[in-house]
Amino acid sequence: MARVRVAVNGFGTIGKRVADAVAKQSDMELVGVTKTRPSFEARRAAEKGYRLYVAGANGAAEFEKAGLPVAGTVSDLLSQVDVVVDAAPEKVGRENRKLYDAAGVRAIFQGGEKSDVAEASFNALGNYAACLGKKSLRVVSCNTTGLARAASVVVPSWGVDHWEATLVRRASDPAETKRGPINGILPTFLLPSHHGPDVRTVFPDLSIATTAVVVPTTLMHVHVNHVRLERPPAHALDVVAAFRSAPRFHLFAPWEHVDGTPQVMEYARDRGIGFNDMMENVLWEEGVRLDGRDLYFFQAIHQESIVVPENVDAIRAMFHLAKDARESIAKTDQALGLAPH
Ligand code: NAD
Repeated sequence: MARVRVAVNGFGTIGKRVADAVAKQSDMELVGVTKTRPSFEARRAAEKGYRLYVAGANGAAEFEKAGLPVAGTVSDLLSQVDVVVDAAPEKVGRENRKLYDAAGVRAIFQGGEKSDVAEASFNALGNYAACLGKKSLRVVSCNTTGLARAASVVVPSWGVDHWEATLVRRASDPAETKRGPINGILPTFLLPSHHGPDVRTVFPDLSIATTAVVVPTTLMHVHVNHVRLERPPAHALDVVAAFRSAPRFHLFAPWEHVDGTPQVMEYARDRGIGFNDMMENVLWEEGVRLDGRDLYFFQAIHQESIVVPENVDAIRAMFHLAKDARESIAKTDQALGLAPH
């Protein structure tokens, strides 16, 4: 079968990672990426041999002045592909949808868009089968991806009466200078927060309520989960074993002395996958507790990379490139260098 031809529109934090991930898949071809103006990321795209196209209102002149070769406009790119991954800033994806519809190209959007931007919201472990053959999908946000992955382990194993999660959110991504540092803790006054309803775009029947605060860090989000189970296992170790045996979870043992997100990201730099990313949900063995029907666990989510493998799997679901989620996840993760399952 011919490889699926993929464009990435928007080459920022998420787009550049998705482009690299797509380029590594044997059943996909990265045809090109877009930038709105020259930048170090545009230069990196050229250095990697990715064909560069111009998006937005600016023309190619600035790129030419900077010595960056441009292959055309975003419309030129769309005319050569089967699917576009939109990784433009939030709300811009919905605008871009007009271009995709006009070009008759399938599209994958990111979590910054409202769920009705696409036919379905996607999470590989959560609802791969429900997304087969769709013409548009939305990969849910980083926090929702983390919660949906955890739900895909907990719900079928022990049933969930009700799930409460407090999200401790990073203030900005490391390179996001425009947001600036904060010195404080900002409550999110939408109570409960939008993340619970977003998880239900993947797990419609899950009783889940979330709240969130923003804290001055760039190193990951942390979720504090309290889940009332329907049929609890005998021991917290059973829960640890279930997370360990699921793809896209990384558990640290107490002897590894990983006491928080700084060491998690140090481990990621040491491991050197992607942009020194941590694409898995990170759990601590000692951060999983069971008290009767009440399950408590922490998980850390690397906001810049957790959705990257999900975008690859969303393309496979759209084009029936794998027989099921497990096969797609295994292919994606092998190509990315993540642990085999
Ligand atoms: P970003 O700002 O890092 O990158 C967006 C890129 O799109 C930039 O390079 C920008 O120049 C470019 N762009 C601007 N206008 C464009 C247009 N009209 N057409 C094409 N490209 C355009 O943003 P990001 O963090 O990569 O976020 C992208 C999407 O992913 C958003 O929906 C966001 O909510 C979602 N998301 C972000 C994170 C995160 O933590 N960064 C995590 C999960 C999901």
